[in-house]
Amino acid sequence: MNSRLITWSVASAVILAGGIAAMKEGWLDGWKMRLGELMTSPGAQYSSARFRVDLVDQFNYSRLAAKTPMLRVDPEMEAWLDREFAKIDTSDLNKVTELVQEGMPRYYRVSVCSASSPSLRELGQRFHEYSHRSQPEMTHMAVALRPRASGLMHEALLVLGQRLRDFTPEALSKSADEPFFSTCVHCKQPHFMKLSRAQRSMALECPKCRRKYAVIAADSAGNFRYVNEFLTGYAPSAVFAKNQSRVQQLFTIWAAVHANCRYTNDPGAKSGTNFAKKEQTDCWQFADETQSLQRGDCEDSSIFLADWLMSRGFQVRVALGRYGDLGGHAWCVVKIDDKEYLIESTENRPDPTDPPLASRVGSRYVPEVLFDRFAIYVPTSPHRAWKGDYWSANTWTRIEPRADLGGDPILARAPVGSPAKSGSKSLLEAAATADVTRLARTTFASPAAPTFLNLGSIPTDAKVWSQSLAPTR
Ligand SMILES: [Zn+2]
Repeated sequence: MNSRLITWSVASAVILAGGIAAMKEGWLDGWKMRLGELMTSPGAQYSSARFRVDLVDQFNYSRLAAKTPMLRVDPEMEAWLDREFAKIDTSDLNKVTELVQEGMPRYYRVSVCSASSPSLRELGQRFHEYSHRSQPEMTHMAVALRPRASGLMHEALLVLGQRLRDFTPEALSKSADEPFFSTCVHCKQPHFMKLSRAQRSMALECPKCRRKYAVIAADSAGNFRYVNEFLTGYAPSAVFAKNQSRVQQLFTIWAAVHANCRYTNDPGAKSGTNFAKKEQTDCWQFADETQSLQRGDCEDSSIFLADWLMSRGFQVRVALGRYGDLGGHAWCVVKIDDKEYLIESTENRPDPTDPPLASRVGSRYVPEVLFDRFAIYVPTSPHRAWKGDYWSANTWTRIEPRADLGGDPILARAPVGSPAKSGSKSLLEAAATADVTRLARTTFASPAAPTFLNLGSIPTDAKVWSQSLAPTR
């Protein structure tokens, strides 16, 4: 038998096998093309690699015409699809969107589509109309192929998705309101966040374990930072009296900060606006900014005080939390010889004869987050009652945001949103957006209330200090 005869025999078998079912399901065109493909020489055959390239081109031509950003092939998603496709039942594409969202937790939106054809070339054409409907938010795509009906048919599963960038304060500063991906430092839950840059400071909270894992704030240039990065190593040149005790040195610096920082509403706040608006427009100042402006609100003066104290070797943390019923507030805690002092940087005048031990003056102060130059400290349990200990590892979990955030994602198991389905017979599709239960919660982190504790008068023995006004950031 010559090769042409073999080809014809195979073609006839193919046509017989496809038969009535093919006509019923609209595969007739596909069979015709398959027949044509069988007639061509093996070298000119339409390969699966060619199919993939053409499919990506098809989508990107449509997106170019619609002026939406190009899609890129995600090799991680392709590898995942190649691995999983054998186990996937494409008769329920809503289930498939769930599988993709569980397996690829970085994807915020997912849309899947499947089709079958005897001809690879014709299979590509089946996605034509779908390519015109791809959502503009989508960023990546991946496709997997598998044989069906003992190799007589090709089945393709196409996944489009919006793959998210890792959250960093820098990415938020430059973003156009896009969602970000993050992994909880505590429970490793992968999740998303949608943050508003209008809110100038926020604590990020895991949607699963409900613990805070980062606190960020905007500086006066509008750039977000982790709050510990506001402590930049400020060290004014100051002269201290000889033989001062550590407590006396603390009072010297405290008095200097107090004298150099008038409590004020944040410059970003307009008069007459309500409390929440003020918090939202509040930007945070570096120590040298506060000193040169000679004013700041409670977190600005706390940063000024803590940064200087740290530069002098003090153990100090800035606390963000609540003061009584007055709402958000910031203060400093300093540890000297196992004694913890609670230092108000705003309203009160330091009195060295009456050192403010945290155990004595701290009853109305409830910290929610602490930070120093290197780390933030969040409560070990969100429901733990406050016992007044600012340093215990039983109470506070230490997080270094730069080191602890942005690690590899771990597979998520979470519900997805309600998918949509098209009525098309030759093409099955479904789509879903991440459920709100996978969104990080945010709370206002910006303190606002001054305190009205009266700790005494201006110190008399703490006058021997002088300082440079030159910023040394
Ligand atoms: Zn968590």
